[in-house]
Amino acid sequence: MSQEVLLSVLDALGRLSAVFQPLPVEKLPLSKCSQRVLAEDIIADTDLPPFANSAMDGYAVYAQDVSGASREQPVKLRVMGEILASQESSVALGRGEAMRIMTGAHLPSGSDAVVPVEQTSDASEETGRSLPAYVDVMASANPGDHVRSRGQDVRAGTMVLQTGTRLRPQDIGMLAALGIAMPNVYRQPRLAIFSAGDELLEIDQPLLPGHIRDANGYALAAAATALGAIPIRLEIAPDKIEAVVDRLDLAVEEGVDLIVTSAGVSMGTYDYVRTAVETYGELTFWRVNIRPGKPLVFGKYRDVPFLGLPGNPVSALVTFEIFVRPALERLSGARKMGCLKTKAHMLHAFESDGRESYLRARITWDGDEYKARLTGSQDSGVLSSLVAANALVVVPAGVKAVNAGDILEAWILNTTSV
Ligand code: AMP
Ligand code: MG
Repeated sequence: MSQEVLLSVLDALGRLSAVFQPLPVEKLPLSKCSQRVLAEDIIADTDLPPFANSAMDGYAVYAQDVSGASREQPVKLRVMGEILASQESSVALGRGEAMRIMTGAHLPSGSDAVVPVEQTSDASEETGRSLPAYVDVMASANPGDHVRSRGQDVRAGTMVLQTGTRLRPQDIGMLAALGIAMPNVYRQPRLAIFSAGDELLEIDQPLLPGHIRDANGYALAAAATALGAIPIRLEIAPDKIEAVVDRLDLAVEEGVDLIVTSAGVSMGTYDYVRTAVETYGELTFWRVNIRPGKPLVFGKYRDVPFLGLPGNPVSALVTFEIFVRPALERLSGARKMGCLKTKAHMLHAFESDGRESYLRARITWDGDEYKARLTGSQDSGVLSSLVAANALVVVPAGVKAVNAGDILEAWILNTTSV
């Protein structure tokens, strides 16, 4: 059904999100899970650390024995042995006794604190030095000092990571510490991408009169990869209905989760992408009240969800961020969607045209707040001002003038949400 009204961005996103569901789950070796989205809640089955251990290289002591110790009045303790990382002491400390202990080594029973080696008469940087019979402790200690208690980091039974978390290095570290070698993660979305237009050339072809190179095919594939999706690039489709249908059929054969195209969706006589979707699939909407990127097609080609982005490179990338990104994030199973956002104070006035506008800007932190300045021409064919930008500032629908000092929402570009 064709819907010839200008949809708001919010309505468009609502229709889009109804279509996408998280993909099936697979088990993967942890080394392959970076940036994948977790498909299970992770409940710790052990305490971390699993045993009380020393936070410093030093001497395990009974805190009361050394209370009041100082450089001027050290306390002498008898050294009963040494505990290396990985070892467990079979000896329990008695009063007046100490054991040399390494960082991470098991705290011996009878001791409740560690005095760092620098605060003892054994202070030396010499590795492999012999164990003294006695040690002078030159600092007082309280129970628990420099001791990592069992479960101080994580208690068994607590949830450490939730379904829908995109796994960052620290999350991977936590899974490793808990011994989770094969977590359940969602399958990565696969999307077909192709550009349409008689004027487009592949990257390695010499420039011909009236032609330009296909910037969008590369840029959109890079944007998809950055979100953890797998782009499958198809050849450029010339402005012929058969060529467009041929590429779309190839995409269907590939079994992709989503088809994304650029160009061929506006009012031109040769804009066949929308026609193909209308004829062989289902058109949900095709115009959104947005700048840049008003002509935007969403629907299905045969049974595969389809998003046809505008051809101008900036429109293509901005509408990717606004519409394709949430689709991919939903398919990925991600709980948080969209880029990081902040508020920014405009450094200058400018005019807007009343559409919801996503304008190229550079934001800088001045110690208190973000300041924003537009990066130049907002013409949707000017890619250099997007190259100069690190954010998009959002001017709401209906606003025609922005003043210096006005606060706008700023979308920080090329960040994954956490
Ligand atoms: P269209 O949507 O086909 O009317 O294209 C709008 C504008 O975007 C035209 O100036 C096209 O030449 C340009 N354009 C379309 N596709 C691409 C592409 N893949 N890379 C760079 N520019 C493009
Ligand atoms: Mg065209």
